[in-house]
Amino acid sequence: MKVYNTLSRTKEEFQPLEEGKVKMYVCGPTVYNFIHIGNARPMIVFDTVRRYMEYKGYEVNFVSNFTDVDDKIIKKAVEEGVDSREISSRYIEECKKDMAAMNVKPATLHPLATQEIGGMLEMISTLIEKGFAYAVKDGTVYFRTRKFEEYGKLSHKNLDDLQAGHREIKVTGEEKEDALDFVLWKPKKEGEPYWESPWCQGRPGWHIECSVMAKKYLGEEIDIHAGGEDLIFPHHENEIAQSEACNGKIFSKYWLHNGFLNIDNRKMSKSLGNFFTVREISETYDLQVLRFFMLSAHYRSPLNFSADLMEAAKNGLERIVNAAENLRHLKKNARSASMTEEEREIWKGSDVFVEKFEAAMDDDFNTADAIACVFELVKYSNTRVNEESSAELSERLGGRLQQLCDILGILLEQKEDILDEEIERLIAERQAARKDRNFARADEIREILLNKGIVLEDTREGVKWKRA
Ligand code: AMP
Ligand code: ZN
Repeated sequence: MKVYNTLSRTKEEFQPLEEGKVKMYVCGPTVYNFIHIGNARPMIVFDTVRRYMEYKGYEVNFVSNFTDVDDKIIKKAVEEGVDSREISSRYIEECKKDMAAMNVKPATLHPLATQEIGGMLEMISTLIEKGFAYAVKDGTVYFRTRKFEEYGKLSHKNLDDLQAGHREIKVTGEEKEDALDFVLWKPKKEGEPYWESPWCQGRPGWHIECSVMAKKYLGEEIDIHAGGEDLIFPHHENEIAQSEACNGKIFSKYWLHNGFLNIDNRKMSKSLGNFFTVREISETYDLQVLRFFMLSAHYRSPLNFSADLMEAAKNGLERIVNAAENLRHLKKNARSASMTEEEREIWKGSDVFVEKFEAAMDDDFNTADAIACVFELVKYSNTRVNEESSAELSERLGGRLQQLCDILGILLEQKEDILDEEIERLIAERQAARKDRNFARADEIREILLNKGIVLEDTREGVKWKRA
């Protein structure tokens, strides 16, 4: 399996640190609003990377954080006159609903930055002890960028060019030793959330969060670190500097970055009025269509979002879903059970689509070519299976189609498959579990329903549910 590594700017053979295991960290969203369709891209593509690795037999430990302390969250909390924790927990819940509807598997763990402050204080202290960081009078702690000799190795930037860029920027009243130094810890401002620290009451810089969460939950050396390409610099460059200076080890072996999503060939932005949340898109389309659309391009290419392209994705997905439905129908109504000699040949003839699918995915997760293989399998099945075919052939080809779609995270069964009575029964079981203070089971039931596209809402009048 070859993966493109931003560090080396080449496709490299994937070799995990430990055989059969993959330790993967994906930078998650800052939770101050509903996620937008740009945020959905890394979620979908790296979930697909994970699914493919699992298909290949790796045990994947997949950690993805929520940044739940940040200027934007604080600003929103002030606007609404609520505590910033209320904002972050609200949008974490909403984000999880969108993820479920896009069939993005929950991470092995979703750590929250605010729960990891202790680890951050520790890492910052180590960096100070090792001479890689320093505190100034007001309690701000900076990373001493030039001391980390390999700074720039990920973004392929040269320190002197960076310095030249900084000359224009007026450094105001700071006691920074160097314009390139970045913040690890900063003093609180009036009304902001803060934590005690040896330097001042304050809060962490953004970059230190990920270094600490990756170390705590995956270790000092990980296999894959991923995120959108805007994170290469400065976020990931700074993460490398912090982690490698602190731990004295190579932080991540492979760095994967997705290209950006544009709208009608322009950058998505609120001021241009071309900004969509995933929730808005879900009013028009099943989010499976959004997932299918995202995977129809290579993850490193820029991707243009438009109404026409979404319609094309919808039609394409329908063709696949219909083929799967048709195979189920033919299997149920087949007149014979086992395959004939001729059908064995047909079955064998479909091996090639799996081989091509794997070859595409082995080549840096080329989902666009992998989807083309799925379409070929659909065409192959449509033209070779009919009312005369055995149940076994329909079942096998249907299973094969299902297997390939599972890797892409594309659902072939209609979500409505769960009946109202079953939903009501699970809700009653969840209520009973809560009464018994068995919150693990209660959460599990919520998750089961979410995976079937059923969203629960706890209201004063009781639990309400709807199909997402
Ligand atoms: P943020 O909440 O801004 O930290 O973003 C969360 C994730 O979404 C990061 O991996 C970003 O790189 C990614 N991201 C943000 N905007 C876009 C976009 N327009 N296209 C693709 N990825 C994006
Ligand atoms: Zn990060």
